[in-house]
Amino acid sequence: MSIREFLKKFRQVLQVIMAGCISSSALGQSSHSNPWAPTEIGVLPPIASLSDGMWLKGELHVHSRHSKESSNNPIAKIIAFSRAVGIDYVCITDHDNHVNGDVAFNTWADPEFRSDSVLLLYGAEWTTTRGHGNVFSARPYDHQRLYDVRDQRDVVVGAVKKELGIHLSANHPSGKDHFGYSYDMVESIEVWNSAVWPKNANAIMIWDDMLSSGRKLTGRGGSDAHHGVPDTPDKATKNSYQAKANYVGTPTTWVFATARTPQAVVDALTNGRVCVSANPFAPRVEFYADLDQDGKMDMMMGDNVKSTGKPVKFRVQLTGHTVPDSSYTVSVVKDGNPFGTFQATGKMPMVEFTDTPVILGRTYYRVTVEGPATPYPQVPGSMALSGNMVGLSNPIYFNFDPNF
Ligand SMILES: [Zn+2]
Ligand SMILES: [Zn+2]
Repeated sequence: MSIREFLKKFRQVLQVIMAGCISSSALGQSSHSNPWAPTEIGVLPPIASLSDGMWLKGELHVHSRHSKESSNNPIAKIIAFSRAVGIDYVCITDHDNHVNGDVAFNTWADPEFRSDSVLLLYGAEWTTTRGHGNVFSARPYDHQRLYDVRDQRDVVVGAVKKELGIHLSANHPSGKDHFGYSYDMVESIEVWNSAVWPKNANAIMIWDDMLSSGRKLTGRGGSDAHHGVPDTPDKATKNSYQAKANYVGTPTTWVFATARTPQAVVDALTNGRVCVSANPFAPRVEFYADLDQDGKMDMMMGDNVKSTGKPVKFRVQLTGHTVPDSSYTVSVVKDGNPFGTFQATGKMPMVEFTDTPVILGRTYYRVTVEGPATPYPQVPGSMALSGNMVGLSNPIYFNFDPNF
């Protein structure tokens, strides 16, 4: 081809390209269809039984003597205290960087790491430059691999996490050492860290943002306690006062488990049949929905169904020690926005409301409950710190894509 022929051909090709550009821009946005726009989702897995299971209460974030800044807090003390206040399961989450990732030969190898009554999860606080996360596992796993990969890109971290088959949870997202990784890698988020309830506002905001964008993410609690009561006065440290203000169970995370086993606890945490209460003696917030208005509840928090376009009746129920003559305020959040507030009494600790989730696209509802504080004699200072916050539910979900 001569240069002249080449230029002629080049001009022709250019004209075709330009014509293409003009015609497609002339069509403009009207022809654009977002491949990610909400469509009708397929068949969802059936809802698990609402009765075949048990409520277990636990602590998901506590440090023993294997965390260097902890004081007076050997594992045996944590387990004995948990048993005394009726805690069913505990995950001792020591800082992995204090042992260079070798949790297996420290916390888990401690002769005190055993109990006939309290279910012990295997885990650690993944303590990295980009913040903290907790691992919850029913059995030992290779934590060293997660520690070693901590400074890599999220795609690398995510692949290792997937291989390990662990439940990873974002810690104290609103404060120092917030979880600085993709939330696509976690199954849960610590929406209530320590007895100091008011400092969790940003964690709740992040949770709602993640839920609103389609991420089905369990909210859970954790005291993050580091210090136990000294056995003798001479063992006291400058932080010992914390043991009476923030300790195991402030807050308490409840799970509806199919069995009294560590695996059932982790599964319940992953599927979101979870609520959080100020302490082990505070009422539990149960949240249900009646899909066909026959008066019988069909699903609970953590469950996800296809919406039918018909109205759904929701029920919030406080189970446990309510104060008969007191009033409880139930605040409902729908898709990250306030939906309404309802009053319940200690005598009749239940409210119901009705709403119709959209037929195309996602909807979620979750609740928080405020009211009189429940005494926790073993940790008396915690009452003032959590104020009138009684507890919170996980969401009830409609049209959330399980393959998201
Ligand atoms: Zn932390
Ligand atoms: Zn911690």
